[in-house]
Amino acid sequence: MTTTDTPTTPAAGTLGGELRDAALAALSRIGAEVPAAGDGGLPVVSPLTGEALLTVPEAGRAEVDAAISAAAEAFRTWRSVPGPVRGGVVRRLGELLTEHKADLAELVTIEAGKITSEALGEVQEMIDVCDYAVGLSRSLGGRTMPSERPGHRLMEQWHPLGVVGVVSAFNFPVAVWSWNTAVALVCGDTVVWKPSEKTPLSALASNALLRRALVEAGFPEAVSTVVLGAREAGEALVADRQVALLSATGSERMGQQVAPVVAGRGGRYLLELGGNNAAVVAPSADLDLAVRGIVFAAAGTAGQRCTSLRRLIVHSSVVDDLVGRLRSVYAGLPVGDPRADGTLVGPLTDAGARARMLAALEEARADGGTVVVGGEAVDVDGAPGAAYVSPALVRMPAQTDVVRRETFAPILYVLTYDTLEEAIELHNDVPQGLSSAIFTLDVREAETFLSEVGSDCGIVNVNIGTSGAEIGGAFGGEKSTGGGRESGSDSWKQYMRRVTNTVNYSTELPLAQGVNFG
Ligand code: NAD
Repeated sequence: MTTTDTPTTPAAGTLGGELRDAALAALSRIGAEVPAAGDGGLPVVSPLTGEALLTVPEAGRAEVDAAISAAAEAFRTWRSVPGPVRGGVVRRLGELLTEHKADLAELVTIEAGKITSEALGEVQEMIDVCDYAVGLSRSLGGRTMPSERPGHRLMEQWHPLGVVGVVSAFNFPVAVWSWNTAVALVCGDTVVWKPSEKTPLSALASNALLRRALVEAGFPEAVSTVVLGAREAGEALVADRQVALLSATGSERMGQQVAPVVAGRGGRYLLELGGNNAAVVAPSADLDLAVRGIVFAAAGTAGQRCTSLRRLIVHSSVVDDLVGRLRSVYAGLPVGDPRADGTLVGPLTDAGARARMLAALEEARADGGTVVVGGEAVDVDGAPGAAYVSPALVRMPAQTDVVRRETFAPILYVLTYDTLEEAIELHNDVPQGLSSAIFTLDVREAETFLSEVGSDCGIVNVNIGTSGAEIGGAFGGEKSTGGGRESGSDSWKQYMRRVTNTVNYSTELPLAQGVNFG
């Protein structure tokens, strides 16, 4: 950060002062300590006003190294704790999250700018994943396969992996950590978390709850540690050979930097990167339902979800009708303080994000696009340093470069098609492959979109939008989205190492493949 864009500190009695008091009160109810920052430190900037509410200490390489070494030491005991006992700690975390749901959601709103309902939903997702992981703690298991040799047993076991490093993005400041951590803990791993530099308080609060659960059960706190800092702290985690799995969530750019470093040291990585998600709207679509799904996915979270809907591929026979309906809804979307009742669109994370949105709209216009509605800066009382915008709907003549990039803001580009093949071609012709949807009542179209010749994404939906996944399924995407899968299904396998065992309980020593050796 340069001196020219150093955020100002709010005075008492202003909106920023009120946010600072609210954040400190929530942290105190949770029982999270905010260590005093010395010189420098990390400013905690709220997107609600653009001001620095507090400063927290920033971990240097030595602190990151110490956290990793402590986690490696804690792993030596944690790995041998019975799975269901580890599950008990995660169950307790879920209880504490339930107790402090409103407190943690308030911090998420203050740091990430989410409207209250979405912030509560994010904490609920943490509670849900704890439930899921508790179930896993009694059901993780390997297979037994038929051996080709008599008197032999061929089987596999899954063992804890080691230290899991988690690097997370600002827009899901707590849920992404819980997807990784709840599952990693029941798998017997320990965790070092480098949250986004934009959301340190939510991270301190979440980890304080987990540490309370650990201490109550008599386990070392170092099973889970937070290191606060920006990219340099993340780089230290990425480079460390003691980190067996590096799970990184963020931009495609970040993933491209992280992957070669982890691969180069022989580590494992799990990448959850940017998306450029599209929905196809077919002639048979229920347009009332489609409009609701589209608006939540495109304008919800101010377009700042990895699964936000960014492209709409609409059949030419319904495009004018659909765009007309969307225009009316977009024109009435309440933009403003995310804590206020009725607000549906909160702020962008910072002025840089707004500048990138406005620049993308300029580029779209230069490419022949027409902004149908929105796409303007919005002033909010008491928050002149914040970056509020009205969500934009843009008709495009073609899928140009700007459409093929992820702009992390509420821009929905509308393209048209005439055949389903053409729609799928447009759909897949982007670098990213995270989430997708089709709105149709035609079973042939729906099944084609779900099939191997349809969407190339990790998430493919029918008659719902692209965002708002449940934790029971595996979450993640293909191509430049990184290929990782987190949360449900069998994602847990990435947090463990598979061991294949052959046991001979016969008196002979037959060799596999019929080999005769003397
Ligand atoms: P970002 O890439 O700027 O930062 C993400 C995290 O990576 C931060 O903690 C940052 O400090 C760290 N980081 C950045 N460069 C690093 C490096 N070279 N080495 C180690 N750590 C590094 O992303 P952001 O702006 O915080 O979040 C928005 C992006 O995240 C969007 O692209 C969004 O699509 C993506 N995202 C993806 C998912 C998913 O599950 N696929 C979920 C949430 C967000």
